[in-house]
Amino acid sequence: METKPIWSEKSIKTNFPQLNKNIRVDVAIIGAGITGITTAEQLKKHGHKIAVLESRAVGKGTSGQSTGNLYAVTEYPNYEIEEKYDLETVNKVVQSRKAALDYITNNISQFNIDCDFQERSMFIFENDGDIDFDKEKSVAQKIGLPFTALKNGRIPFNFNEGIEYPNQAQFNPLLYIQHMAKHLHDEKCSIYENTRVLEIDEKDEHIILKTETATVTANYVIHATHTPMGLHIQYHTTLGPYREYGIGVKLRNNQYPEGIFWGHFENKKYSVRSYILNDEPYLLCIGSMHKVGQAKDNKEHIRELETFVKHHFEVERITHRWGGQNYKSADLLPYIGQKSAGSKQYIATGFSTDGLIYGALAGMLLADEINEKKNPFAELYKASRHQPLKAASKFAKENLNVAAQLIKDFSMPGFDSKDVDLELGEGKIVQVDGKKMAIHKDEIGSITKLSAICPHMGCTVHWNNAEKSWDCPCHGSRFDAAGCVIEGPAFHGLAKIK
Ligand SMILES: Cc1cc2nc3c(=O)[nH]c(=O)nc-3n(C[C@H](O)[C@H](O)[C@H](O)COP(=O)(O)OP(=O)(O)OC[C@H]3O[C@@H](n4cnc5c(N)ncnc54)[C@H](O)[C@@H]3O)c2cc1C
Repeated sequence: METKPIWSEKSIKTNFPQLNKNIRVDVAIIGAGITGITTAEQLKKHGHKIAVLESRAVGKGTSGQSTGNLYAVTEYPNYEIEEKYDLETVNKVVQSRKAALDYITNNISQFNIDCDFQERSMFIFENDGDIDFDKEKSVAQKIGLPFTALKNGRIPFNFNEGIEYPNQAQFNPLLYIQHMAKHLHDEKCSIYENTRVLEIDEKDEHIILKTETATVTANYVIHATHTPMGLHIQYHTTLGPYREYGIGVKLRNNQYPEGIFWGHFENKKYSVRSYILNDEPYLLCIGSMHKVGQAKDNKEHIRELETFVKHHFEVERITHRWGGQNYKSADLLPYIGQKSAGSKQYIATGFSTDGLIYGALAGMLLADEINEKKNPFAELYKASRHQPLKAASKFAKENLNVAAQLIKDFSMPGFDSKDVDLELGEGKIVQVDGKKMAIHKDEIGSITKLSAICPHMGCTVHWNNAEKSWDCPCHGSRFDAAGCVIEGPAFHGLAKIK
């Protein structure tokens, strides 16, 4: 099963250089997704000298694996946020997200970016009683968010109840980020690709970042890496890492619906949209979420999406399959801002499934914070906020899950290496002399042996049979079959075993 997001089919070659000499900048931004690129744009405007350090290629992290939907509401119904906080908080969430959507829209017109941007309605509906639409409409009314009650026949799904939010949007997220990066790159804002940050050393006066080939000295560092790099117990214990999947589909009848569709069916959520790639329409469906590293069979999760689409549409063939990661915060809101009091490191994480907008918002908030400019939304998303009551139940759930995983993996019998029988392309954990080893057989039969212990915090990695990776069930680090880091908080790869 090949996995590749549909956006990669229509992207531009970025070809930014690898950093190969030591440099000194005002701000070093680690990561060139929507968060890193927005932060760079906002800081550059204020005259800072910036380096953006990207371990792989611009936009090809989670931003380039997303659905490309831009909307003011969030994954959580507005009334859930109101119940946890208050109406004022919901209003601020929606207003701040609208501001980020406007920012993206303005960039697209100001820089004349061709990224298939379309204004669209967002439709949220259910047939499982999962959402209380009376409450949702009441909150929308109170905060002045335009909506219409959704009636059957308006969209190509049958449902019990639903709501339509007009004037939301869609784009190709990869193209937007790549074009923005090209506009930004100059002597004041250098963008580097294939430049992985391996170490962060915060001194009194400045911070030193080490990459494989050079060092960067900076006054401030932004972790625009989706989850903060390295050990940050206060964040990693409050973030739930989840994996979900996307498929691209050709339909037989050419009836591709226009809009952002979020359907809640039998306690599962599916996101559907269409996209025109090289004059050919495609249907995209995203969902089938599970905790990273905890799926019995990742391919089965992709098949679940295929079954869902076949139930609702006349499918000709599945053209694309891919996976992507989300980090859910413990209190429904992302963590954006200074890592801790007095630190020169800034983080932006916990975006859940809403991070194209939250990532852009993070860039705006972080730049204001570094420029010491007051932002009306800074306090709401403050990274170091302490909300024990609001976060308690999710905090307990995520950490019990991590503890259970550790115990399960500790007592896992494994296999003795001599008993290992691997199919081509398969990976397994085996136990040799009491040590856990991650073994993979590639498509031509070569075997790679790695330590199965995640270097981040010591959990045992699990094989992801759809994306051919070793995934850590505790804090979401992922490694390719050769043990190199793909994503997550780990700085270093899985140790090689001879
Ligand atoms: C399947 C899916 C669909 C989604 N759909 C939507 C949607 O429609 N709308 C929405 O708003 N949100 C959506 N999201 C969420 C959204 O995509 C993410 O929250 C958002 O893209 C995160 O952006 P980011 O820039 O923070 O992270 P990323 O895009 O992941 O960027 C982080 C970058 O940091 C780099 N990096 C990591 N470690 C290092 C290192 N050590 N050194 C250098 N570079 C490093 C990575 O290579 C990566 O490029 C979706 C998510 C998924 C998984």
